[in-house]
Amino acid sequence: MREILASPGATRYILEKYGIRARKKYGQNFLINADLIRGIIDAAQITEEDCVLEIGPGIGSMTQLLSRAAGKVICVEIDESLRPVLAETLEDCDNVKILWQDILKTDLRQICEDYNGGKPLKVVANLPYYVTTPILMQLLEQKNVFTSITVMVQKEVADRIRSGPGSKEYGALSLAVQYFAEPELALMVSPSNFIPRPGVDSCVLCLKAYKEPPVECSEKVMFALIRAAFNQRRKTLANAISHGYTLGGKQYTREEVTQALEKMGLPATVRGEALSLEQFAQLSLLMDPERAGN
Ligand code: SAM
Repeated sequence: MREILASPGATRYILEKYGIRARKKYGQNFLINADLIRGIIDAAQITEEDCVLEIGPGIGSMTQLLSRAAGKVICVEIDESLRPVLAETLEDCDNVKILWQDILKTDLRQICEDYNGGKPLKVVANLPYYVTTPILMQLLEQKNVFTSITVMVQKEVADRIRSGPGSKEYGALSLAVQYFAEPELALMVSPSNFIPRPGVDSCVLCLKAYKEPPVECSEKVMFALIRAAFNQRRKTLANAISHGYTLGGKQYTREEVTQALEKMGLPATVRGEALSLEQFAQLSLLMDPERAGN
């Protein structure tokens, strides 16, 4: 389809032609503003050198423009009822490959191997809001698979990601993102840019991966600490860690955790939500059983 799909008229035409109703259970809100999509692609700095992973192409509105900007676009879409739609809307887009599967069950490293010779990808997506956090956590857990992640998320998630210690939005997602990249707010997006309109404001966030990790840490132990801290937010960190969590295969007692906290000048009663990324990193080094002195 040569015509730009990202307009209210073209989108309604396609939806009616194929009898498609946006499915809430898949978080479907289709973009209808081509300038906004171009803004997202610019923010992601997509060039012909890039292989892009698009999560959830929907009816292809963003895919069509990504296909013109990038060398290759790999899409992962869960909703197979969109097959005939994408066959029409992307018929001219020879550099687009669609994988019909759930992104949460997709081996992302394999995509990088299969379609980009093992070189890292750039992610660009208007994410389905009902699974934003699991998708982002899955992307962030990969090492050297992505150089950047540019995503539309609901504003509240962007606030969580950009928050720091002490605020109620601060959590495992904020820390996982901040370990990967410095989050940049690229665009604010109102509900009028979608069909159907979502009930919330949205933001485009741009995460450009650090070349080197921003803190020295024992990575596995640090993420175990973060999980323990925020799965049981109301407990003190010493209680949370000493109840059922193993770090690097070792189960710690409350006294051992307290000692490590004291070495950092932190009180025994401190909660995880008060610790910065740097402090979680420092604690992970103190509590990694494989490091000498522990
Ligand atoms: N990219 C299109 C656009 O901007 O107009 C559609 C975005 S819509 C917000 C989210 C898309 O993600 C839908 O096409 C939906 O079917 C798809 N989706 C939802 N859950 C998914 C999952 N677990 N794996 C892959 N795709 C998913």
